[in-house]
Amino acid sequence: MELGPVSAAAQAEPHRFPCPSCGANLRYAPDLEKLKCAHCGHEETIPESRGAIPELDLRAVERGEVPAHAMEEMRVARCPNCGAQVEFAADLHAKECPFCASPLVTDTGVMRQIKPQAQLPFLIGDAAARQAMNRWIGRLWFAPSDLKKYARAERAMQGIYVPYWTYDAETRSRYSGQRGTVYYESRPMTVIVNGRRQTQMQQVARVRWQRASGEVARAFDDVLVLGSTSLPKDFTDALAPWDLSALSAYEPRFLAGFRAEGYTVPVDKAYGEARAIMNAVIEQDVRRDIGGDQQRIERIETDVGALSFKHVLLPVWLAAYRYRGKSFRFVVNGRTGTVQGERPWSPAKIAALIALALLVAMVIAFLQVAREF
Ligand SMILES: [Zn+2]
Ligand SMILES: [Zn+2]
Repeated sequence: MELGPVSAAAQAEPHRFPCPSCGANLRYAPDLEKLKCAHCGHEETIPESRGAIPELDLRAVERGEVPAHAMEEMRVARCPNCGAQVEFAADLHAKECPFCASPLVTDTGVMRQIKPQAQLPFLIGDAAARQAMNRWIGRLWFAPSDLKKYARAERAMQGIYVPYWTYDAETRSRYSGQRGTVYYESRPMTVIVNGRRQTQMQQVARVRWQRASGEVARAFDDVLVLGSTSLPKDFTDALAPWDLSALSAYEPRFLAGFRAEGYTVPVDKAYGEARAIMNAVIEQDVRRDIGGDQQRIERIETDVGALSFKHVLLPVWLAAYRYRGKSFRFVVNGRTGTVQGERPWSPAKIAALIALALLVAMVIAFLQVAREF
């Protein structure tokens, strides 16, 4: 991935689909699941792709052997504050970074990146996303009033395709450890009954450990890792689950009218995170395989075969705003409407509540004192 100045030779045109009847840009309308011209109302169906989604070989990428047809160039604007690299499209002028609301320098460059192989198209539109966000904000206690005002303001949310990596792998793991079996032993114990010392037999749990070793295998499908750092990870994690079974082969027309973010976490780096997710599953498999009541794992050696990956784009509605010099963000899952966000606290509202609590405590104390007299 390189970021260089825009050259005349750069063929990186943003994804544009002119309307056949008026020439304006068509946009993908989630509620219609069609392309629509906002200017003349012309609608166009996106042909259904029944083709298999290609997977790429991670080892080949690590050797620097990505086939040329799997690469693309994208004109991006880079946010100096959060580092997001957002697709730069002439018809989607943005003065603010959609991720952190910092002023976006129109410093564009060409990013060479692995082309997406699949996307989940937006299912919910702008209005539904705003509704979901407003409901979420409405439930917040102690949020400053101007935040709620912000939510009510007819400010548009931005639809962004966020880059993810998904990994497939077939693993085979040899392990050694110990199986623990719980058994009970009767032991005399001294107890005090009615002030007298007595000896009673009591059951004490003990664990018998036996050596255990074996092999477990698993086929992993679509282990999902975020490919950028512009949104906090706990945010994007909270948007899960994604209906990855609905992924369709990459079709730029689904991106028409939306922005795509370029990945900033390379596929080999994100693989470390995917392995951690896989390792946790393998450990569960090993524990189940050891069996018994308790398990000790001493060693797991895993061979990873059939390792492949995909670059996928997942739809997120985003609203970012600045409040007292800090940026706050709301994200909405563009498929399910799940909301996650950062929230400021209103010091005035919290102070008012503390004052009220103190007052209530004083009244209760006063009533108790009054009753005693
Ligand atoms: Zn038109
Ligand atoms: Zn930013």
